[in-house]
Amino acid sequence: MLDVREDLTPMMAQYTDLCEAHDDALVLFQVGDFYEAFCAAAETVARVCEVTLTKREDSTGRYPMAGVPIDNAASYVERLLDAGYRVALADQVQPAEEASGLVDRAVTQLVTPGTLVDDAYLEGSTANYLAALVREAAGTEATYGLALVDVSTGECLVTSGSRATVSEELERRSPAELLTGPELDDVGVDLVPEAMHTSYDPSVFEHDTARARLRRYARPDAVLADDAEVRATGAVLAYAEYTQGGDHLDYVSRVTRFDARESMRLDATALASLELFESRSRSGHTLMETLDETACALGRRRLEAWLRRPTVDRHEAEARLDAVEALSREGVVRETLHDRLREVYDLERLVGRVSRGRANARDLRSLATTLAVVPDLREALAALDHDSARLADLTDRLDDCGDVRSLVEEAIVPDPPQEVTDGGVVREGFDAELDDIRATEREGREWVSQLEATERERTGIDSLEVGYTQVHGYYIEVTNPNLERVPEDYTRRQTLKNSERFYTPELKRREDEILSASERADALEYEVFCEVRASVADEGERLQALADVLAELDVLVAFATIAVDRDYVRPTFGAEAIEIEAGRHPVVERTTEFVPNGIDFSQGDVALITGPNMSGKSTYMRQVALTCVMAQAGSFVPASRASLRVVDRVFTRVGASDDIAGGQSTFMREMAELTDILHAATDRSLVLLDEVGRGTATTDGLAIARATTEFIHDEVGASTLFATHYHELTGLEAEYDGVFTLHFTADRDADGVTFLHRVAEGPSSSSYGVEVARLAGVPDRVVERARALVEAAERDEATERDPDTADSSRHAATNGEHVRTSTDADSAEKAFSKPRQTSGGRAKSAPLPDPSRDSHGDPNHVVGGVLADIERLDVARTTPMDALSLLHELQRRLDDADQET
Ligand code: ADP
Ligand code: MG
Repeated sequence: MLDVREDLTPMMAQYTDLCEAHDDALVLFQVGDFYEAFCAAAETVARVCEVTLTKREDSTGRYPMAGVPIDNAASYVERLLDAGYRVALADQVQPAEEASGLVDRAVTQLVTPGTLVDDAYLEGSTANYLAALVREAAGTEATYGLALVDVSTGECLVTSGSRATVSEELERRSPAELLTGPELDDVGVDLVPEAMHTSYDPSVFEHDTARARLRRYARPDAVLADDAEVRATGAVLAYAEYTQGGDHLDYVSRVTRFDARESMRLDATALASLELFESRSRSGHTLMETLDETACALGRRRLEAWLRRPTVDRHEAEARLDAVEALSREGVVRETLHDRLREVYDLERLVGRVSRGRANARDLRSLATTLAVVPDLREALAALDHDSARLADLTDRLDDCGDVRSLVEEAIVPDPPQEVTDGGVVREGFDAELDDIRATEREGREWVSQLEATERERTGIDSLEVGYTQVHGYYIEVTNPNLERVPEDYTRRQTLKNSERFYTPELKRREDEILSASERADALEYEVFCEVRASVADEGERLQALADVLAELDVLVAFATIAVDRDYVRPTFGAEAIEIEAGRHPVVERTTEFVPNGIDFSQGDVALITGPNMSGKSTYMRQVALTCVMAQAGSFVPASRASLRVVDRVFTRVGASDDIAGGQSTFMREMAELTDILHAATDRSLVLLDEVGRGTATTDGLAIARATTEFIHDEVGASTLFATHYHELTGLEAEYDGVFTLHFTADRDADGVTFLHRVAEGPSSSSYGVEVARLAGVPDRVVERARALVEAAERDEATERDPDTADSSRHAATNGEHVRTSTDADSAEKAFSKPRQTSGGRAKSAPLPDPSRDSHGDPNHVVGGVLADIERLDVARTTPMDALSLLHELQRRLDDADQET
């Protein structure tokens, strides 16, 4: 940018050097109380931060300049990060008064989205990850290594696996910044498009370099599984060190390897469509918000982690549930625990700051306050009569770190100032030397405070005053009329309009004594403070272990509170099939009078759900998935009974036309996602298909929906909920043992159509569309006519196939190997009696609607064509006006045909 270095002032040359050394970042350069940027960078800062672009003028020229106040830098830095910049903070690292010429400056911190440490930038409830991804090609299969570090807490997580596994993990963790190994270059961009993509010195990805670095944090062979993990971890730590000023990160005390398969797999689509953390509708709530009754940030982050990664280890889930159950029985204990946990500060991040040497005295007091809570928690837990092994274990691990707490409480004053260098931080009685100096200072000040009285007496000047200014120090002020009474030993210091100011040799001596004592005391205090902070840092590991216990306890208490307040029930695991009685949607029920609905997968693996729009199909399917997610996170669930089995993965696919909020409503995407399911689902998976196949014409849409259902039934065996507007699909029930049908209906009240939101067995009536039209107030004549047409269509079909298809079980037998025995058919007939009467076995032999069927001449064909059009019509999505004009058109066609004969 400024190429003629010799022509610059020393300061500008220093700035230019720093910019070159950090050419991937915007350098903010401390000049006094401001961070400044110059030239092109100044324009960026001015634009993004909305600050004025000014000019710096020196002997060498004029340069654009923009600055932000250091006091308030965080908010500006945040804007720059949001706009996609990394920010290098170049601070003065030498006190201005010590510098002979140019003040030394160095980049003390590189602020990037993935390496934030300041609370000012961080959200309390989510971890902020920096990720590194590498690929190791071994044979034909490539292994990907993924390491994640949260620089604010020191958490470091590592895993490896196939591309699919690792990319799913990336989606789940959604890191703010991603480093990729040199062999991957652009891959990261597709994997987590929302993360900042950073390329960093390729050498840190080299195996030996990575291993050497990792050794300073953990024993690589004991912790990590393979080379991919070693390289990813080495690289992520290298970059994290670099952003924090280049040093070893002491507070990264735990490098934890995890296996991505230990948790229920939820990919980005599932997370989004189940609205776990982000709502699709603007006003809506998420599951996270709904369940967040935690008391502290530690608990909030743990809750988020548990929901994002529900366990697939049944024993782990049961252990949590035992604890929740025990806590749910004792309201008083629960409230005590919750109240005390509210006083817990964000211990993980506090310890992070302590270890980085960035904690101030207030942080240490916050840490002590947090520790003071621990004995009360132990006491409350001791009062609880329980047989939960998990609670017992947590109680055991509640280390109150009493030594750390007394150190802080003895060393640091209760309400310390923000700054740690200006004194007022260390408590009296903690350090003898410091107390001595402070005593000298105090004595001096006392002497001065007496001085006014003694001098008034000595001189007889009643108006004499003693005061202090920053610039001139202590003075004795005498008004002009009294000047002749001033004693010999007064020396003039300053002349004002109506008075003179003096000092005496003794006052001067005292002043020097006070000032030097005060300065020495401040310096010594800072030293003492740093020692205390270092001793606390030495206990970092214990403190982090405590944070872990507090986090878990907080979530368990929150789960118990919710379980009681919202009438949740403890789920059981180990069932052959998922069975939920009177289940509710945990989020929707908070704002709506909710109608409970059950599901019973012991009837079969695949439930086909029909019913008009807005009748509750999507809500119903999601509530089943959410129930499984909650149970495997360790929470009770909204139902009267839930007998579950561990689900390894939840798939959700929302048909393109329903996914308006997603914005990407292409049929192609829908099919690509469907492909994933058909490949990856297992018989332990839960699959939600919401109106899949809707994004294309009826014929092939129905064909795809049907083929999908058959495939899931025959090959996958996943518990599947399939909401479909293809009424024809419900006929599969008769053909396949494992397929059953459910439907939702609508009713009318004074205000028009109401949906009962109640699920019932069997398919919905084929004329439900006409029903909805009636309920919506379409004129009787139209409704009557439509109903007659539907009936005619059904009669027509019945006669068409009468000769050999009257017996549905025989038909099924001819149609495939999935034969319903006649007893099955009988009981099914009873269970589904009402709706089945209208639809009968029609769907299974009904030809797919054929839009090419046309009407020339033959009235039978005209009728057929009209029927086909009615069948194709999506009544629930048709406005009364459209319905009327269509009916008019149909009538005209029928009339024309009548006249021809
Ligand atoms: P569909 O998928 O059949 O079009 P939705 O599941 O989207 O219907 O539900 C439509 C509306 O009905 C939603 O606003 C939802 O809040 C409400 N709803 C759904 N199920 C229930 C229920 N069981 N009890 C009460 N309201 C419900
Ligand atoms: Mg829906």
